[in-house]
Amino acid sequence: MSRHLTCSFCGRSADEVAKLVAGPKKVHICDRCVAIASRIMEQDPDAPPPAPAAPRFFERLRGWIRALGSSRRRGLERSGAPA
Ligand SMILES: [Zn+2]
Repeated sequence: MSRHLTCSFCGRSADEVAKLVAGPKKVHICDRCVAIASRIMEQDPDAPPPAPAAPRFFERLRGWIRALGSSRRRGLERSGAPA
């Protein structure tokens, strides 16, 4: 049997992973996907997903950049920087 086994989740072949666990109906899962899955299982299902925090961070970052830019412009006006 030269059938090449691959992880049903990430598609890595048996040679690419440390372990490939066989499940029912020719399904296989590699050690990496088991680690990812267990991490997902450990997460609190009631906790909000971390994704929504990112846009808020970028919004704040944009605000800082705007403030920095306007304060720099004011500084240039006050010091009368040469053009
Ligand atoms: Zn995998």
